[in-house]
Amino acid sequence: MRTIIIHIPAHWTAAAIVVASTLLVARAGDTASHDYSIAVDAALDRLVVQARFAVPVRKISARSRDAEQFTHDVRDCDTGKRLGTRGRRLVVTGPGLRCLSYVFELRNAARTEDLNRRLVADNIVVSPALWLWRPGIADGPEIQVRFTLPDTVAVSVPWPRLPNADHAYRLTASPRSGSALAVFGDFSSRIVSVAGAEINVTLLRTASELDPDEISEWIRDTANNIALAYGRFPNPYARVVLIPVGGGSWGGNSPVPFGRVVRDGGETIELLINEQRPVADYYGEWEPTHEFSHLMLPYLRRSQRWVSEGYATYYQNLLLARAGRYSETEAWQKLYSGLERGRESAPGLSPNEAAAGDERSTRMKIYWSGVALALMADVELRRRSDGSESLDTVLDKLQTCCLPSERAWSGRELFRQLDAMLDEPLFMDLYRKYADTAGFPDARPLLRQLGVIAEDGSVRVSDAAELAAIRRQITAAKALTAAGAADR
Ligand SMILES: [Zn+2]
Repeated sequence: MRTIIIHIPAHWTAAAIVVASTLLVARAGDTASHDYSIAVDAALDRLVVQARFAVPVRKISARSRDAEQFTHDVRDCDTGKRLGTRGRRLVVTGPGLRCLSYVFELRNAARTEDLNRRLVADNIVVSPALWLWRPGIADGPEIQVRFTLPDTVAVSVPWPRLPNADHAYRLTASPRSGSALAVFGDFSSRIVSVAGAEINVTLLRTASELDPDEISEWIRDTANNIALAYGRFPNPYARVVLIPVGGGSWGGNSPVPFGRVVRDGGETIELLINEQRPVADYYGEWEPTHEFSHLMLPYLRRSQRWVSEGYATYYQNLLLARAGRYSETEAWQKLYSGLERGRESAPGLSPNEAAAGDERSTRMKIYWSGVALALMADVELRRRSDGSESLDTVLDKLQTCCLPSERAWSGRELFRQLDAMLDEPLFMDLYRKYADTAGFPDARPLLRQLGVIAEDGSVRVSDAAELAAIRRQITAAKALTAAGAADR
């Protein structure tokens, strides 16, 4: 908060003093942000960028090393003086810069991104990591970005929109997970309202056009699956970027060959979709539900990736059962088989060691040790509360307190936070027991208590088991009510 000292002439009336101080306060608020205006040309050849800074700025950089080669005509726009770049940094001397302008070669930069070879020429993808030269966000004024666009050009960026403004956004701090995509041109972008969220669905265009309505319906269905955990989608403003690809080298004939969550600038889920398969086939895929499930936790540091992969994998199976896509037995079969694969993977390493190392030989351990912990916590919460608490209710509270989060968390921090929301803690006990212990958290006795009976790798469920009622609760069918709350 800034203190404003106002000198008031003795002859002013009380009314004039009120008006004068209101104006001063309003002006202080108006100038509190760094304001970028970015003009895009119809041919998508270049961006012309001008930034007016709220305070003089000395440290300005781009996130990508490749930014420098496509950035030209960098100037102090108050004096017209040219400025140099050194790698990812802008060279600023003296007291600091109030105004920065530059030109970015958008289409040339797009040629370095393989993805663009698949797209029709009037829509291209280039990350802000290349074209946005800016001061840090964490301790300075807010950064606002406004685009000036020809009628034929749209833009999709990961940042939250500014209310009541077209093509205007606010940059917030975010964990450095991946590099977000920005899309320019003539593509489909629409808002899908679902379970308390407004999800921006951006569909890139290729020669074989997919129907944006059909695609949006599928995304709505997938987001609904996630809301079957606690009645709403974990991020009210997530973005989904859909990248149509052929089959073949992009992942065989799978309908959704690849997906990932990028948290740079805001939470984006990127999915490759196979344009040679009908959209109806996308519904049977686990990948989208897995990626969306990641949003129920904050971004975790790399060495605790086994926790985020484990929770997303646990929920992907539960939610697809609750949505009716898996039978109860199918869901438990998948959980059982995965846990077995995890148990056999890299037995000499602890989950933290496996996640910090080379994924090729430890992948199953990374994906499934966190599933074992999620299952253990879920069953114990349900058992001791007689069903009134569960992993769903704890993650509901986590969302309310902490998501979407602007930073990376450690596993300990997450588990401490989950414990803080319980009368009787249990998550840190599990972490201490398993995170740094070689081997695999053995969930086999628990599965037997739940009535998950495996013979020669094949699972059947038994209602005679001690905790069979809890097993049925975990995967029981659910539907969203009209109000958006999940029936329990
Ligand atoms: Zn994942």
